[in-house]
Amino acid sequence: MNSKIYLSPPHMSGDETHFIDEAFRTNWIAPLGPHVDAFEKEIASFVGVKEAVALSSGTAAIHLALAVLNVTAGDKVFCSTLTFVASANPILYQGADPVFIDSEPETWNMSPDALERAMEEACLKGKLPKAVIVVNLYGQSAKMDELVTICDRFDVPLIEDSAESLGSLYRGKASGGFGKFGIFSFNGNKIITTSGGGMLISNDMEAIQQARFLATQARDLASHYQHSQRGYNYRMSNLLAGVGRSQLQVLELRVGARRKIFNGYKRELEHLPGVDFMPEYPETKTNRWLTAMTIDKKTGISIKQIIDSLGNHNIEARQVWKPLHLQPLFQGVEYYPHRVDEHVAEHLFNTGICLPSGSNLTDDEQSRVVTQFKEALNTAGTSQRNTLIRKL
Ligand SMILES: *Cc1c(COP(=O)(O)O)cnc(C)c1O
Repeated sequence: MNSKIYLSPPHMSGDETHFIDEAFRTNWIAPLGPHVDAFEKEIASFVGVKEAVALSSGTAAIHLALAVLNVTAGDKVFCSTLTFVASANPILYQGADPVFIDSEPETWNMSPDALERAMEEACLKGKLPKAVIVVNLYGQSAKMDELVTICDRFDVPLIEDSAESLGSLYRGKASGGFGKFGIFSFNGNKIITTSGGGMLISNDMEAIQQARFLATQARDLASHYQHSQRGYNYRMSNLLAGVGRSQLQVLELRVGARRKIFNGYKRELEHLPGVDFMPEYPETKTNRWLTAMTIDKKTGISIKQIIDSLGNHNIEARQVWKPLHLQPLFQGVEYYPHRVDEHVAEHLFNTGICLPSGSNLTDDEQSRVVTQFKEALNTAGTSQRNTLIRKL
């Protein structure tokens, strides 16, 4: 059996131990320290925002953004439906009610049309959401100009869930810097990793100060331990921040490698009937965190069959995120489709697949994926023709 090819495994820069050694040498092993401070500054400067706070996860970053915006029970928060559940779980932590917004076909991300309809209805009912969480799926930026304009019109803060889009650009500007808050994740499968970690960024220095306060158990200024607010233990450790600094140095290389992998798949598979790749929206540059594509039903093979067939050859592929409005967890939750009769996220879930995209994927490994993928489609084509012949 060939060795396993993972969807998106960690890829070390090789220089991490230098930073970790330094943390050990100076005994900064705590969830604070010089690497944490430096990592925050480096991310803020990379994105071009004023402030950043390093946290234990991307989920914690979204949670703190909602906490700082004072989202509480009974509030509504709008959120992209086509995403990982981590985008929306923090809404539940705050006891608030999510409302899911569909995707549009050009970026696969939040549909400005659906958002506008949802906002107008909410405004008529006199209950605007406290925040809108916009996800940049698989590295592709959402239509930020349109989405920001709608949020500004209704004066609702936008949280950019850029967990997957670090290193991507929208109209020449770094992904993550478009809302009131941006968030990043450094989980093991992301484009750069600290094994686990996250970052909350903003141009509002007071808001980040407040997030930093909440992330360290909300300890009041007093000589004893005094607390007037509910706090969390969400800070990133100085050891992991060292790993993050080393990873950030190779981010551009990682983006280049993932884009090259995408182009390789595209070159090999794009001509196959029924196969379409996730688009790159004009004036954006996606980091191509994962290569995503759709397979039309007319190929005669389901997404699940392809994933199983690749799995039999020790290749990990995944279905596109199951839309959150279809999750049992969110049964009965409000949802706004792209158009009344066009459900984009649902369609992408039914036809979408992600192929192994790690920046450390070798050419040989990619060839293996391409070969097995073609074989799966071919086998399906043959059995489809046989069925046709039998019917004739
Ligand atoms: C990974 C991810 C998160 C959560 O990040 P963690 O660091 O794993 O908590 C949130 N949103 C999206 C879109 C993600 O892909």
